[in-house]
Amino acid sequence: MNIIKPGDLVDLNDYAPDFTGAYEKKGQTKRRLKKLHKQLLKLQELLYAGNQHALLIILQGMDTCGKDGTIRRVMAGMNVQGCDVVSFKVPSTDELSRDFLWRAHRAVPPKGKIGIFNRSHYEDVLVVRVHSLVPEDIWSQHYQQINDFEKMLVESGTVVLKFFLHISKDEQKARLESRISDPTKHWKVMESDVRERAYWDDYMQAYEVMLQKCSTDWAPWHVIPANKKWYRNLVITECIVETLRKLDMRYPEPSVDITKFTIGD
Ligand code: AMP
Ligand code: MG
Repeated sequence: MNIIKPGDLVDLNDYAPDFTGAYEKKGQTKRRLKKLHKQLLKLQELLYAGNQHALLIILQGMDTCGKDGTIRRVMAGMNVQGCDVVSFKVPSTDELSRDFLWRAHRAVPPKGKIGIFNRSHYEDVLVVRVHSLVPEDIWSQHYQQINDFEKMLVESGTVVLKFFLHISKDEQKARLESRISDPTKHWKVMESDVRERAYWDDYMQAYEVMLQKCSTDWAPWHVIPANKKWYRNLVITECIVETLRKLDMRYPEPSVDITKFTIGD
């Protein structure tokens, strides 16, 4: 996993999507992942009990990069009551009649909770840029507007964790082909997947600019090698656990004097 530092120049060719660190196969990570899930559950409870912070997890990446799979695997280690997932689709007419951050802002988790964005306000500097859905003088302002928005969130007690799930073009081909050859995956196949794949290079460029301009001290981007699903799940879970641990949360003082508290028969 790589954290982009503010001001870094990003060339995605420098980041290997099939990197798996010290591990060679899935089996080697199972125990560690299980342990992390236990820790995550405890930290999530602390987050809920303390009610001082919220955690916003943003997932971005090309089609088939594994956003859904990550959500499934990461949430397996959480109490679902304290976690909300929001998927960002093509904006509705109502959403389009507002500023682009409106729908993101209203989906930000409240204190005590974890929110996961499956795609996000970053689509407004990705698909919107690649297809010129609004004029350049409009989308080019979005980078700074996003940074300011996220700064405000962080200053208000929301921790913002951003993951770019980096897969190779070959891996996407293999994943799309396996969807086509598996009847139980046909429902997932979209015309847009093939259409957008033709814009691969434009997307890579848009992602590089996004990583460069929107990796900030308060909300840096993490580039996740995502060709191997098990490694992707491991590093993301590690990062979430580490981030929550750094908050150094404590259970709040009881609201009653426990020593004088007796439970009636
Ligand atoms: P999926 O995540 O596969 O369900 O697809 C959602 C689709 O909505 C993707 O093709 C996104 O690019 C598209 N989308 C999300 N946000 C926006 C946006 N702000 N403008 C245009 N398209 C968007
Ligand atoms: Mg899709």
